[in-house]
Amino acid sequence: MTPTGLLRNIRTTSRRTVLISGAGVAGPALAFWLNRYGFAVTVVEKAGTLREGGYPIDVRGTALEVVRRMGILPQLLDAHIDLRRLTFLDADGGEVASVNPHTLTGGVAGQDLEVRRGNLSDALYAAVRDDVEFLFHDSIDALDQSGHGVDVSFRGGGRRTFDMVIGADGLHSRTRELAFGPEEQFHRYLGYCFAGFTLRNTFGLSHETVLWNTPGRAAALYAVGDHDDVHALLNFAHPEPPLDAFRNPEAQRDLVSAVFADAGWEVPGMLAALRDADDLFFDAVSQIRMPRWSSGRVALVGDAAYAPSFLTGQGSSLALVGAYMLAGSLADRDHTAGFAAYEHHTREFVTANQDQVGEGDATLFPTTARALEQRNDMLRNLSAMPSTEGRPAHSALTLPEFVPMR
Ligand SMILES: Cc1cc2nc3c(=O)[nH]c(=O)nc-3n(C[C@H](O)[C@H](O)[C@H](O)COP(=O)(O)OP(=O)(O)OC[C@H]3O[C@@H](n4cnc5c(N)ncnc54)[C@H](O)[C@@H]3O)c2cc1C
Repeated sequence: MTPTGLLRNIRTTSRRTVLISGAGVAGPALAFWLNRYGFAVTVVEKAGTLREGGYPIDVRGTALEVVRRMGILPQLLDAHIDLRRLTFLDADGGEVASVNPHTLTGGVAGQDLEVRRGNLSDALYAAVRDDVEFLFHDSIDALDQSGHGVDVSFRGGGRRTFDMVIGADGLHSRTRELAFGPEEQFHRYLGYCFAGFTLRNTFGLSHETVLWNTPGRAAALYAVGDHDDVHALLNFAHPEPPLDAFRNPEAQRDLVSAVFADAGWEVPGMLAALRDADDLFFDAVSQIRMPRWSSGRVALVGDAAYAPSFLTGQGSSLALVGAYMLAGSLADRDHTAGFAAYEHHTREFVTANQDQVGEGDATLFPTTARALEQRNDMLRNLSAMPSTEGRPAHSALTLPEFVPMR
């Protein structure tokens, strides 16, 4: 072996190894920063490829600085959706108010980004794919932390040992279940369920959202651009999570159809499209709240650890900031001290953002006639001009600079 080869070999074997489960938002962002700090990173993703397109998500406040430091801000600016109008309708489809979306979301016009989830995922993946090992179409089957590392068995049959394993596998994280136990302990149901799917844009909508409300029910059409398709969202209050429906798409369609059976406006057409939709996404609106984000050599990041729910619009931003903070906290520490520092410096930011919504109190989805009337009065009196400053919670963390271990 040449001296250079020997050197490379020593460097490679001494690099700390990390397995990340999930290549959504938090996973590739974490992989990027860990690779930057000298870790040997593997990402395992259960899907066969990255998911394209998808619903629009926001990147705001502190998270904007993360994507700027990653060098992907220009791509994301190109993909920015530029939603221009949010129109609220009453039960008969009459207009209640039409506002600039930022006035409600606490976003900052000209600064915050709104991109399709697939565009964000793509940009993150492109920034890291040449430096990190990606295993698509596979997932963790079992974890064993008994030795000086984590022994991982993969569904595909492989077995490997890593210094650390990080769950970035979303709201219903399998890694969390394996290392911390069942989801019920950490799941905070916010009192709503939703169905999301796409349908043909026969409504003439462009760069705008239209939202129809009756107490406890909302139907939204979201036109990302002048595209052929619009994103549909049917959201409804439900006292308990409908557990039977979660694994059964037919039961989901039946439940949504029953809840919206007598609804007006464009809802009957949306229900017809729901029957045929091949991209139906149904879930409870909920948060994940955990007393600790790590257990031994396993830690969680993004929705797996602290999903804030789409009502906050902060899920992707928390995932990006959490990934940056976790990688940086490990840069010059072992896993025990690194995980503790990650939690210590990130939890307040996470909690402030999760606290932006409570049970059943979402502005977009009032559950009683009185709350709906109050919400509509508020909308009619809303200033036409969006704020030039975002919500304090969105920027409540100033990113540190991290120095890799020598
Ligand atoms: C309808 C909807 C609208 C939303 N709107 C917004 C918004 O406006 N703004 C916003 O910021 N956020 C929004 N969100 C939330 C946002 O999508 C998430 O908070 C964000 O994507 C979290 O990133 P993540 O990487 O933690 O998880 P995810 O993006 O969920 O990624 C998890 C990844 O892990 C993979 N995975 C799952 N299980 C396994 C396994 N067992 N093994 C291997 N891989 C696995 C998944 O395939 C996926 O690729 C919305 C969510 C929904 C559903």
